[in-house]
Amino acid sequence: MNIALIAHDRKKELLVNFCVAYKAIFAQHKLFATGTTGKVISQATGLTINRFLSGPLGGDQQIGALIAEDNMDLVLFFRDPLLAQPHEPDITALLRLCDVHNIPVATNIATAEVLIAGLKAGSIDFRKLKNK
Ligand code: PGA
Repeated sequence: MNIALIAHDRKKELLVNFCVAYKAIFAQHKLFATGTTGKVISQATGLTINRFLSGPLGGDQQIGALIAEDNMDLVLFFRDPLLAQPHEPDITALLRLCDVHNIPVATNIATAEVLIAGLKAGSIDFRKLKNK
């Protein structure tokens, strides 16, 4: 499965801790992330992560392009709901594409926990039918 990891600045530590906790699961998948998020996660976990540009510089759009091509299977996007983001349109576009392609997407850690449990249980295996 291709998994996208994105966290706004005040949520990065939370996502890093989440990735440390579920490292064994994440290690079985192909990981993608926006620039800074990918850097801090790989430093903390040693996981191999395909990094794109930083979110505000276009990283969300790059991940969005993979979603548009139906090449992303799961998105964990820890948003900061209490801080305006300069690239809000890109974030909206990314989440819209998840809905277009029915991609499981979590925007907070509570949903991410459920999706990881689902990933482990095989509930997201329907995505394998779409993978080339
Ligand atoms: P970053 O981008 O991982 O480069 O910080 C995330 C974002 O703000 O969308």
